[in-house]
Amino acid sequence: MKKRLWKLIAPLMLVLGLVTLAGCGNSVAKRDTLSNASETNTIIWGVKADTNLFGLMNIKTGKIQGFDVDVAKALTKEILGPSGRAKFVQVTSDTRMPLLKAGNIDAIIATMTITPERQKQADFSDVYFKAGGSILVKKGSKIKSVKDLKKGTKTIVVQGSTYGDSIKKAAPNTQLLQLSDYASAFTALKAGQADALSTDNGILYGMSLQDKGYVVVGGTYTNEPYGIAVNKGQKPFLRSINKALAKIKENGTYDKIANKWFGDVPGFHVKEVK
Ligand code: GLU
Repeated sequence: MKKRLWKLIAPLMLVLGLVTLAGCGNSVAKRDTLSNASETNTIIWGVKADTNLFGLMNIKTGKIQGFDVDVAKALTKEILGPSGRAKFVQVTSDTRMPLLKAGNIDAIIATMTITPERQKQADFSDVYFKAGGSILVKKGSKIKSVKDLKKGTKTIVVQGSTYGDSIKKAAPNTQLLQLSDYASAFTALKAGQADALSTDNGILYGMSLQDKGYVVVGGTYTNEPYGIAVNKGQKPFLRSINKALAKIKENGTYDKIANKWFGDVPGFHVKEVK
């Protein structure tokens, strides 16, 4: 008799448990990011830590520095007020979307191009930086543009970036070497493991500044408008980001930050990125 009752109750308990679990998952995604940020006086930003000029870990200070980091700090002050805190969590091209969706970060500001595919998964702010796809090669290389990446050549791209697809379209016969982040990608190029590395021009200029033996060639072959990504269903937070962005563009803060990071970069025009 007891056994029978248990047989009846067990499935019910399982269903109840699953429903509760699903409910919890939902509450993470549905929690209002802006109210939460106001309560804690903190916005948690996902930034790169391997990308010179945009988000790079300073080994001496243990802090991440770059254009994206400074824009995030300025937006935080606009949104939360002067005492508002920006907290930074390290992401890569591959981990940024899962970390956002899991609720580990409030927003992604990490050299991320707005694409229709990504817009299915997250909402994007207005464009805050206009990059373009290019290639980095060893100085003196016979490769002068993406068109020279013919059969027999090898090209490095980073997992989770737009370039797996872009290179397949622009240079269908080059062999792809996919690596997990930009630090290892540049190390592999310098070790002679490939003929070129392809990603956004700004990121490549950042590498070229670190080692003058590598140069950006051939201009740009894709448009990469950067946006800040937030979870779907977070319209108030998205609106406040767009408002803050317009404000810092208008009051000169954006230009100051852009000049700080790109003012001295040869071949880069701050006016064209805004
Ligand atoms: N902007 C490109 C992208 O979003 C390349 C830079 C990156 O890997 O973050 O994929």
